[in-house]
Amino acid sequence: MTDRWDAIILGGGPGGSTLAASLARLGRRALVLERETFPRFHIGESLLPRSREVFERLGLDEALDARFLRKYGARFLCSTTGRARTYSFADAFEPRFEFAYQVQRDAFDHLLLRHAAALGAEVREAWEAVEVMFEGPRAVGVRARPRARGAPDAAPEQAAAASAASSDVVELRAPVIVDATGRDTLLASRMRRKAQLSELDKTALFAHYEGVPREGGIDQGNIQVVLFEHGWFWFIPFRGELTSVGAVVSSRWIRTRRRGEGLDELFDRTVAESGWARDFLASARRVRPVSALADFSYRIDQLTGDGWLFVGDAGGFLDPLFSTGAHLAIKGADLAATAIHRALDAGDTSRAAFAGYEAELRYAVDLFLGVVQGFYRGQFRETLFEPNQRPTMRKLITSMLAGDVFHAERRPQWATFLRQHYPPDLPVFA
Ligand SMILES: Cc1cc2nc3c(=O)[nH]c(=O)nc-3n(C[C@H](O)[C@H](O)[C@H](O)COP(=O)(O)OP(=O)(O)OC[C@H]3O[C@@H](n4cnc5c(N)ncnc54)[C@H](O)[C@@H]3O)c2cc1C
Repeated sequence: MTDRWDAIILGGGPGGSTLAASLARLGRRALVLERETFPRFHIGESLLPRSREVFERLGLDEALDARFLRKYGARFLCSTTGRARTYSFADAFEPRFEFAYQVQRDAFDHLLLRHAAALGAEVREAWEAVEVMFEGPRAVGVRARPRARGAPDAAPEQAAAASAASSDVVELRAPVIVDATGRDTLLASRMRRKAQLSELDKTALFAHYEGVPREGGIDQGNIQVVLFEHGWFWFIPFRGELTSVGAVVSSRWIRTRRRGEGLDELFDRTVAESGWARDFLASARRVRPVSALADFSYRIDQLTGDGWLFVGDAGGFLDPLFSTGAHLAIKGADLAATAIHRALDAGDTSRAAFAGYEAELRYAVDLFLGVVQGFYRGQFRETLFEPNQRPTMRKLITSMLAGDVFHAERRPQWATFLRQHYPPDLPVFA
Protein backbone atom coordinates (compact mmCIF):
# COMPACT_ATOMS: atom_id res chain seq x y z
CA MET A 1 0.00 0.00 0.00
CA THR A 2 1.40 3.42 -0.85
CA ASP A 3 1.51 6.04 1.85
CA ARG A 4 -0.97 8.88 1.74
CA TRP A 5 1.79 11.47 2.19
CA ASP A 6 5.33 11.83 0.84
CA ALA A 7 6.45 13.59 4.00
CA ILE A 8 5.05 14.24 7.45
CA ILE A 9 6.35 17.43 9.04
CA LEU A 10 6.17 17.83 12.80
CA GLY A 11 5.75 21.51 13.69
CA GLY A 12 4.33 24.40 11.67
CA GLY A 13 6.79 27.20 12.56
CA PRO A 14 8.79 28.91 9.79
CA GLY A 15 10.85 25.74 9.21
CA GLY A 16 7.88 23.36 8.98
CA SER A 17 5.64 25.65 6.97
CA THR A 18 8.37 26.66 4.50
CA LEU A 19 9.18 23.01 3.95
CA ALA A 20 5.51 22.12 3.47
CA ALA A 21 5.01 24.99 1.01
CA SER A 22 8.17 24.10 -0.93
CA LEU A 23 7.24 20.42 -1.14
CA ALA A 24 3.71 21.30 -2.25
CA ARG A 25 5.17 23.51 -4.96
CA LEU A 26 7.23 20.56 -6.14
CA GLY A 27 4.05 18.50 -6.36
CA ARG A 28 4.70 16.48 -3.20
CA ARG A 29 2.04 15.56 -0.66
CA ALA A 30 3.04 17.00 2.70
CA LEU A 31 1.23 16.77 6.01
CA VAL A 32 2.01 19.29 8.77
CA LEU A 33 1.12 18.50 12.37
CA GLU A 34 1.20 21.65 14.51
CA ARG A 35 0.52 21.34 18.23
CA GLU A 36 -0.83 24.85 18.68
CA THR A 37 -3.69 26.72 17.08
CA PHE A 38 -2.30 29.73 15.22
CA PRO A 39 -1.87 32.63 15.70
CA ARG A 40 0.29 32.21 18.80
CA PHE A 41 3.14 34.27 20.29
CA HIS A 42 6.69 33.23 19.39
CA ILE A 43 10.11 34.72 19.97
CA GLY A 44 12.34 35.46 16.93
CA GLU A 45 11.08 38.56 15.19
CA SER A 46 13.90 40.00 13.10
CA LEU A 47 14.44 38.33 9.72
CA LEU A 48 17.41 38.37 7.34
CA PRO A 49 17.31 39.61 3.71
CA ARG A 50 18.44 36.36 2.12
CA SER A 51 15.29 34.57 3.35
CA ARG A 52 13.53 36.61 0.69
CA GLU A 53 15.00 34.35 -2.00
CA VAL A 54 12.71 31.67 -0.58
CA PHE A 55 9.76 34.03 -0.04
CA GLU A 56 9.99 35.12 -3.67
CA ARG A 57 10.01 31.55 -4.92
CA LEU A 58 6.99 30.72 -2.79
CA GLY A 59 5.09 33.83 -3.91
CA LEU A 60 5.07 35.37 -0.43
CA ASP A 61 6.95 38.61 -0.94
CA GLU A 62 3.94 40.81 -1.67
CA ALA A 63 1.94 39.59 1.31
CA LEU A 64 4.92 40.10 3.60
CA ASP A 65 5.63 43.56 2.24
CA ALA A 66 2.04 44.61 2.76
CA ARG A 67 2.14 43.54 6.37
CA PHE A 68 5.58 44.01 7.86
CA LEU A 69 8.16 46.74 8.36
CA ARG A 70 11.20 46.63 6.08
CA LYS A 71 14.57 46.27 7.77
CA TYR A 72 17.35 47.79 5.67
CA GLY A 73 20.16 47.26 8.12
CA ALA A 74 21.49 46.68 11.62
CA ARG A 75 22.94 49.30 13.90
CA PHE A 76 25.34 48.26 16.66
CA LEU A 77 25.85 50.57 19.62
CA CYS A 78 28.39 50.09 22.40
CA SER A 79 27.33 51.38 25.81
CA THR A 80 30.85 51.23 27.19
CA THR A 81 32.68 53.16 24.47
CA GLY A 82 29.83 55.13 22.89
CA ARG A 83 30.77 53.74 19.46
CA ALA A 84 28.02 53.15 16.89
CA ARG A 85 28.05 51.56 13.45
CA THR A 86 25.33 50.80 10.94
CA TYR A 87 25.60 47.97 8.45
CA SER A 88 23.23 48.51 5.52
CA PHE A 89 22.35 45.41 3.54
CA ALA A 90 22.77 47.36 0.30
CA ASP A 91 26.53 47.21 1.00
CA ALA A 92 26.69 43.41 0.82
CA PHE A 93 28.77 41.69 -1.88
CA GLU A 94 25.49 40.56 -3.45
CA PRO A 95 23.15 43.51 -2.82
CA ARG A 96 20.02 42.22 -4.60
CA PHE A 97 18.23 41.63 -1.29
CA GLU A 98 18.69 44.97 0.36
CA PHE A 99 16.06 44.59 3.06
CA ALA A 100 14.46 42.02 5.31
CA TYR A 101 11.34 42.24 7.52
CA GLN A 102 10.67 42.80 11.19
CA VAL A 103 7.76 40.50 11.96
CA GLN A 104 5.43 39.80 14.81
CA ARG A 105 5.69 36.09 14.80
CA ASP A 106 2.07 35.31 15.58
CA ALA A 107 1.02 36.99 12.31
CA PHE A 108 4.09 35.88 10.30
CA ASP A 109 3.90 32.20 11.27
CA HIS A 110 0.15 32.20 10.65
CA LEU A 111 0.63 33.67 7.18
CA LEU A 112 3.31 31.10 6.28
CA LEU A 113 1.25 28.17 7.50
CA ARG A 114 -1.86 29.33 5.65
CA HIS A 115 0.25 29.80 2.53
CA ALA A 116 1.52 26.21 2.77
CA ALA A 117 -2.09 25.05 2.94
CA ALA A 118 -3.05 27.27 0.01
CA LEU A 119 -0.29 25.67 -2.06
CA GLY A 120 -1.71 22.23 -1.31
CA ALA A 121 -0.11 20.98 1.90
CA GLU A 122 -2.41 19.34 4.44
CA VAL A 123 -2.19 21.28 7.68
CA ARG A 124 -3.55 20.00 10.97
CA GLU A 125 -3.39 22.49 13.80
CA ALA A 126 -3.92 21.40 17.41
CA TRP A 127 -2.30 18.08 16.49
CA GLU A 128 0.57 16.93 18.60
CA ALA A 129 3.29 14.56 17.45
CA VAL A 130 3.92 12.17 20.32
CA GLU A 131 6.78 10.12 18.90
CA VAL A 132 8.49 9.14 15.70
CA MET A 133 8.00 5.47 14.79
CA PHE A 134 11.01 3.44 13.67
CA GLU A 135 11.42 0.06 12.03
CA GLY A 136 15.04 -0.76 12.74
CA PRO A 137 17.05 2.41 12.06
CA ARG A 138 14.46 3.76 9.59
CA ALA A 139 11.78 6.30 10.51
CA VAL A 140 8.49 5.12 9.09
CA GLY A 141 5.84 7.30 10.66
CA VAL A 142 4.63 9.22 13.65
CA ARG A 143 2.25 8.66 16.55
CA ALA A 144 0.13 11.77 16.94
CA ARG A 145 -3.08 12.87 18.56
CA PRO A 146 -5.51 15.74 18.27
CA ARG A 147 -5.15 18.16 21.11
CA ALA A 148 -8.09 19.58 22.98
CA ARG A 149 -8.16 23.27 22.06
CA GLY A 150 -6.85 25.37 24.90
CA ALA A 151 -5.46 22.32 26.73
CA PRO A 152 -2.99 23.50 29.36
CA ASP A 153 0.67 22.79 28.61
CA ALA A 154 2.04 19.86 30.57
CA ALA A 155 5.74 19.08 31.02
CA PRO A 156 6.90 17.47 27.75
CA GLU A 157 7.70 14.08 29.35
CA GLN A 158 4.34 13.96 31.18
CA ALA A 159 2.52 15.04 28.07
CA ALA A 160 4.32 12.41 25.99
CA ALA A 161 3.59 9.65 28.52
CA ALA A 162 -0.05 10.65 28.86
CA SER A 163 -0.64 11.06 25.18
CA ALA A 164 1.24 7.90 24.15
CA ALA A 165 -1.22 6.02 26.36
CA SER A 166 -4.24 7.94 25.11
CA SER A 167 -6.69 6.16 22.86
CA ASP A 168 -6.75 9.28 20.65
CA VAL A 169 -3.27 8.45 19.37
CA VAL A 170 -3.13 7.50 15.71
CA GLU A 171 -0.28 6.19 13.59
CA LEU A 172 0.51 8.15 10.42
CA ARG A 173 3.04 6.81 7.94
CA ALA A 174 5.21 8.37 5.22
CA PRO A 175 8.59 7.62 3.63
CA VAL A 176 10.06 10.84 5.09
CA ILE A 177 9.51 12.26 8.57
CA VAL A 178 10.75 15.76 9.30
CA ASP A 179 11.17 17.00 12.84
CA ALA A 180 10.54 20.76 12.77
CA THR A 181 9.32 20.97 16.37
CA GLY A 182 11.67 23.85 17.19
CA ARG A 183 13.16 24.04 20.65
CA ASP A 184 11.05 21.06 21.72
CA THR A 185 13.52 18.94 19.67
CA LEU A 186 11.12 16.00 19.82
CA LEU A 187 13.40 13.44 18.20
CA ALA A 188 16.86 14.71 19.22
CA SER A 189 15.78 14.84 22.88
CA ARG A 190 14.68 11.21 22.70
CA MET A 191 17.96 10.28 21.05
CA ARG A 192 19.88 12.26 23.69
CA ARG A 193 21.99 13.87 20.99
CA LYS A 194 21.98 17.47 22.30
CA ALA A 195 25.00 19.39 23.61
CA GLN A 196 25.59 22.90 24.98
CA LEU A 197 27.78 25.30 23.00
CA SER A 198 30.87 26.92 24.43
CA GLU A 199 30.51 30.68 25.28
CA LEU A 200 26.75 30.57 24.69
CA ASP A 201 25.28 29.89 28.14
CA LYS A 202 23.11 33.01 28.03
CA THR A 203 19.68 34.02 29.28
CA ALA A 204 17.23 36.23 27.39
CA LEU A 205 14.75 38.59 29.03
CA PHE A 206 12.23 40.15 26.65
CA ALA A 207 9.04 42.18 26.33
CA HIS A 208 7.16 44.49 23.97
CA TYR A 209 7.08 48.28 24.34
CA GLU A 210 5.33 51.28 22.84
CA GLY A 211 6.98 54.64 22.35
CA VAL A 212 10.58 53.55 21.68
CA PRO A 213 12.29 56.17 19.48
CA ARG A 214 13.33 55.09 15.97
CA GLU A 215 15.74 56.23 13.34
CA GLY A 216 14.34 58.21 10.42
CA GLY A 217 13.76 57.40 6.75
CA ILE A 218 14.47 53.87 5.58
CA ASP A 219 16.53 53.27 8.73
CA GLN A 220 13.37 53.36 10.87
CA GLY A 221 13.12 49.56 10.52
CA ASN A 222 16.74 48.80 11.47
CA ILE A 223 17.38 46.48 14.36
CA GLN A 224 19.35 48.22 17.11
CA VAL A 225 21.84 45.97 18.90
CA VAL A 226 23.06 47.64 22.08
CA LEU A 227 26.17 46.13 23.65
CA PHE A 228 26.84 46.56 27.36
CA GLU A 229 28.94 45.02 30.07
CA HIS A 230 26.69 42.04 30.77
CA GLY A 231 25.57 41.20 27.25
CA TRP A 232 23.48 43.00 24.64
CA PHE A 233 19.97 44.30 23.94
CA TRP A 234 17.87 44.02 20.83
CA PHE A 235 15.38 46.71 19.76
CA ILE A 236 13.22 45.38 16.94
CA PRO A 237 10.65 47.90 15.64
CA PHE A 238 7.39 46.67 14.11
CA ARG A 239 5.07 48.45 11.75
CA GLY A 240 2.96 50.68 14.04
CA GLU A 241 3.84 51.58 17.58
CA LEU A 242 5.25 48.36 18.96
CA THR A 243 8.94 47.51 19.51
CA SER A 244 10.30 44.20 20.73
CA VAL A 245 12.99 44.72 23.34
CA GLY A 246 15.17 41.97 24.75
CA ALA A 247 18.38 41.51 26.68
CA VAL A 248 20.71 38.56 26.24
CA VAL A 249 22.84 38.40 29.35
CA SER A 250 25.57 36.29 30.93
CA SER A 251 24.82 33.69 33.57
CA ARG A 252 26.97 35.79 35.93
CA TRP A 253 24.53 38.70 35.55
CA ILE A 254 21.54 36.41 36.10
CA ARG A 255 23.08 35.26 39.39
CA THR A 256 22.71 38.85 40.66
CA ARG A 257 18.92 38.30 40.69
CA ARG A 258 17.66 39.07 44.16
CA ARG A 259 15.44 36.77 46.16
CA GLY A 260 11.85 37.51 45.22
CA GLU A 261 12.87 39.81 42.36
CA GLY A 262 10.34 39.55 39.53
CA LEU A 263 11.35 39.41 35.86
CA ASP A 264 10.01 42.91 35.18
CA GLU A 265 12.17 44.27 37.99
CA LEU A 266 15.22 42.29 36.86
CA PHE A 267 14.76 43.59 33.33
CA ASP A 268 14.51 47.19 34.56
CA ARG A 269 17.69 46.70 36.56
CA THR A 270 19.38 45.31 33.43
CA VAL A 271 18.25 48.29 31.36
CA ALA A 272 19.69 50.62 34.01
CA GLU A 273 23.14 49.13 33.27
CA SER A 274 23.24 50.58 29.73
CA GLY A 275 23.08 54.28 28.83
CA TRP A 276 21.72 53.58 25.33
CA ALA A 277 19.05 51.17 26.57
CA ARG A 278 18.00 53.64 29.28
CA ASP A 279 17.68 56.39 26.67
CA PHE A 280 15.66 54.21 24.28
CA LEU A 281 13.23 53.26 27.03
CA ALA A 282 13.11 56.59 28.87
CA SER A 283 9.62 57.46 27.64
CA ALA A 284 8.51 54.03 26.50
CA ARG A 285 5.71 51.92 28.00
CA ARG A 286 5.96 48.17 28.50
CA VAL A 287 2.85 46.49 27.07
CA ARG A 288 3.79 42.84 27.53
CA PRO A 289 5.23 41.39 30.74
CA VAL A 290 8.87 40.33 30.65
CA SER A 291 9.52 36.67 29.76
CA ALA A 292 12.74 34.75 30.18
CA LEU A 293 14.50 31.92 28.38
CA ALA A 294 17.73 30.40 29.67
CA ASP A 295 20.48 28.33 28.03
CA PHE A 296 18.83 28.40 24.63
CA SER A 297 21.81 27.47 22.44
CA TYR A 298 22.51 23.82 21.63
CA ARG A 299 23.97 21.63 18.95
CA ILE A 300 22.72 18.29 17.71
CA ASP A 301 25.29 15.90 16.33
CA GLN A 302 23.29 14.38 13.49
CA LEU A 303 20.75 16.21 11.33
CA THR A 304 19.55 13.37 9.11
CA GLY A 305 19.01 9.63 9.21
CA ASP A 306 17.25 6.91 7.28
CA GLY A 307 13.85 8.38 6.45
CA TRP A 308 14.21 11.43 8.70
CA LEU A 309 15.61 14.97 8.79
CA PHE A 310 15.71 17.87 11.22
CA VAL A 311 14.76 21.34 10.04
CA GLY A 312 15.18 24.61 11.96
CA ASP A 313 15.66 24.71 15.72
CA ALA A 314 14.82 21.00 15.94
CA GLY A 315 18.35 20.50 14.57
CA GLY A 316 20.13 23.06 16.76
CA PHE A 317 20.12 26.69 17.82
CA LEU A 318 22.86 29.26 18.13
CA ASP A 319 22.49 32.54 19.97
CA PRO A 320 20.17 35.21 18.43
CA LEU A 321 22.95 37.86 18.18
CA PHE A 322 22.68 38.09 14.38
CA SER A 323 18.97 37.15 14.12
CA THR A 324 19.88 33.94 12.33
CA GLY A 325 17.32 31.44 13.67
CA ALA A 326 14.38 31.95 11.32
CA HIS A 327 16.72 32.35 8.34
CA LEU A 328 18.44 29.04 9.02
CA ALA A 329 15.02 27.41 9.45
CA ILE A 330 13.64 28.94 6.22
CA LYS A 331 16.68 28.40 4.00
CA GLY A 332 17.27 25.01 5.59
CA ALA A 333 13.68 24.01 4.82
CA ASP A 334 14.12 25.14 1.23
CA LEU A 335 17.21 22.94 0.89
CA ALA A 336 15.49 20.06 2.66
CA ALA A 337 12.59 20.24 0.20
CA THR A 338 14.95 19.79 -2.75
CA ALA A 339 16.75 16.92 -1.02
CA ILE A 340 13.49 15.16 -0.14
CA HIS A 341 12.07 15.66 -3.63
CA ARG A 342 15.19 14.15 -5.24
CA ALA A 343 15.33 11.30 -2.74
CA LEU A 344 11.71 10.39 -3.44
CA ASP A 345 12.33 10.53 -7.18
CA ALA A 346 15.30 8.22 -6.79
CA GLY A 347 13.39 5.91 -4.45
CA ASP A 348 16.17 6.22 -1.87
CA THR A 349 15.35 8.04 1.36
CA SER A 350 18.29 6.65 3.31
CA ARG A 351 20.62 8.97 5.22
CA ALA A 352 23.02 9.04 2.28
CA ALA A 353 20.37 10.78 0.18
CA PHE A 354 20.33 13.69 2.64
CA ALA A 355 24.11 14.06 3.03
CA GLY A 356 24.24 17.19 0.81
CA TYR A 357 21.54 18.89 2.87
CA GLU A 358 23.32 18.11 6.13
CA ALA A 359 26.71 19.33 4.84
CA GLU A 360 25.33 22.60 3.47
CA LEU A 361 23.36 23.41 6.58
CA ARG A 362 26.33 22.64 8.82
CA TYR A 363 28.55 24.91 6.74
CA ALA A 364 26.10 27.82 7.10
CA VAL A 365 25.47 27.29 10.81
CA ASP A 366 29.18 26.97 11.56
CA LEU A 367 30.02 30.19 9.72
CA PHE A 368 27.65 32.06 12.03
CA LEU A 369 28.64 30.07 15.10
CA GLY A 370 32.35 30.88 14.85
CA VAL A 371 31.63 34.61 14.57
CA VAL A 372 29.11 34.60 17.42
CA GLN A 373 31.62 32.85 19.68
CA GLY A 374 34.25 35.35 18.48
CA PHE A 375 31.89 38.15 19.51
CA TYR A 376 31.47 36.84 23.05
CA ARG A 377 35.23 36.37 23.37
CA GLY A 378 35.61 40.05 22.42
CA GLN A 379 37.61 39.68 19.19
CA PHE A 380 34.70 40.17 16.76
CA ARG A 381 33.32 43.05 18.83
CA GLU A 382 36.46 45.02 17.95
CA THR A 383 36.13 44.10 14.26
CA LEU A 384 32.53 45.37 14.25
CA PHE A 385 33.56 48.83 15.42
CA GLU A 386 37.07 48.99 13.86
CA PRO A 387 37.69 52.74 13.33
CA ASN A 388 39.52 52.37 10.02
CA GLN A 389 37.45 49.51 8.72
CA ARG A 390 38.36 48.54 5.15
CA PRO A 391 35.50 48.53 2.61
CA THR A 392 36.03 44.81 1.98
CA MET A 393 35.68 44.06 5.66
CA ARG A 394 32.46 46.07 5.78
CA LYS A 395 31.10 44.12 2.79
CA LEU A 396 32.13 40.86 4.39
CA ILE A 397 30.36 41.63 7.69
CA THR A 398 27.32 42.98 5.87
CA SER A 399 27.05 39.86 3.70
CA MET A 400 27.14 37.67 6.76
CA LEU A 401 24.54 39.85 8.54
CA ALA A 402 22.33 39.59 5.43
CA GLY A 403 22.42 35.80 5.74
CA ASP A 404 24.48 35.09 2.62
CA VAL A 405 25.90 31.91 4.13
CA PHE A 406 24.69 29.14 1.84
CA HIS A 407 27.35 28.47 -0.79
CA ALA A 408 26.94 24.93 -1.99
CA GLU A 409 28.33 25.60 -5.45
CA ARG A 410 31.26 27.84 -4.70
CA ARG A 411 32.59 29.00 -1.35
CA PRO A 412 33.40 32.71 -1.70
CA GLN A 413 36.77 33.92 -0.47
CA TRP A 414 35.22 36.15 2.15
CA ALA A 415 33.44 33.22 3.76
CA THR A 416 36.64 31.18 3.82
CA PHE A 417 38.36 34.17 5.45
CA LEU A 418 35.64 34.34 8.13
CA ARG A 419 35.84 30.62 8.74
CA GLN A 420 39.62 30.78 9.15
CA HIS A 421 39.55 33.76 11.50
CA TYR A 422 36.57 32.58 13.52
CA PRO A 423 36.59 28.79 13.57
CA PRO A 424 33.64 27.43 15.57
CA ASP A 425 34.38 25.79 18.91
CA LEU A 426 32.31 22.63 18.63
CA PRO A 427 31.22 20.27 21.40
CA VAL A 428 32.53 16.71 21.35
CA PHE A 429 29.76 14.14 21.29
CA ALA A 430 30.28 10.89 23.17
C1 LIG B 1 15.89 34.90 22.85
C2 LIG B 1 15.71 34.54 21.40
C3 LIG B 1 15.63 35.55 20.44
C4 LIG B 1 15.50 35.23 19.09
N1 LIG B 1 15.46 36.23 18.17
C5 LIG B 1 15.43 35.89 16.85
C6 LIG B 1 15.40 36.89 15.85
O1 LIG B 1 15.38 38.09 16.12
N2 LIG B 1 15.37 36.50 14.56
C7 LIG B 1 15.35 35.18 14.21
O2 LIG B 1 15.35 34.86 13.03
N3 LIG B 1 15.34 34.22 15.14
C8 LIG B 1 15.38 34.54 16.44
N4 LIG B 1 15.33 33.55 17.37
C9 LIG B 1 15.24 32.15 16.91
C10 LIG B 1 13.85 31.78 16.39
O3 LIG B 1 12.93 31.88 17.44
C11 LIG B 1 13.88 30.34 15.89
O4 LIG B 1 15.12 30.05 15.32
C12 LIG B 1 12.79 30.05 14.87
O5 LIG B 1 11.52 30.22 15.44
C13 LIG B 1 12.95 28.60 14.36
O6 LIG B 1 11.84 28.21 13.61
P1 LIG B 1 11.37 26.68 13.65
O7 LIG B 1 10.30 26.56 12.64
O8 LIG B 1 12.55 25.79 13.57
O9 LIG B 1 10.80 26.46 15.12
P2 LIG B 1 9.56 27.17 15.82
O10 LIG B 1 9.35 28.50 15.28
O11 LIG B 1 9.80 27.06 17.29
O12 LIG B 1 8.34 26.27 15.42
C14 LIG B 1 8.19 24.97 15.94
C15 LIG B 1 6.72 24.63 15.96
O13 LIG B 1 6.58 23.26 16.34
C16 LIG B 1 5.46 23.13 17.17
N5 LIG B 1 5.64 21.91 17.96
C17 LIG B 1 6.50 21.70 18.98
N6 LIG B 1 6.38 20.44 19.44
C18 LIG B 1 5.43 19.84 18.67
C19 LIG B 1 4.87 18.53 18.65
N7 LIG B 1 5.27 17.59 19.51
N8 LIG B 1 3.93 18.25 17.72
C20 LIG B 1 3.52 19.20 16.82
N9 LIG B 1 4.01 20.46 16.82
C21 LIG B 1 4.97 20.78 17.72
C22 LIG B 1 5.47 24.39 18.00
O14 LIG B 1 4.17 24.67 18.49
C23 LIG B 1 5.95 25.43 16.99
O15 LIG B 1 4.87 26.09 16.37
C24 LIG B 1 15.43 33.86 18.72
C25 LIG B 1 15.49 32.85 19.68
C26 LIG B 1 15.65 33.18 21.00
C27 LIG B 1 15.74 32.07 22.02
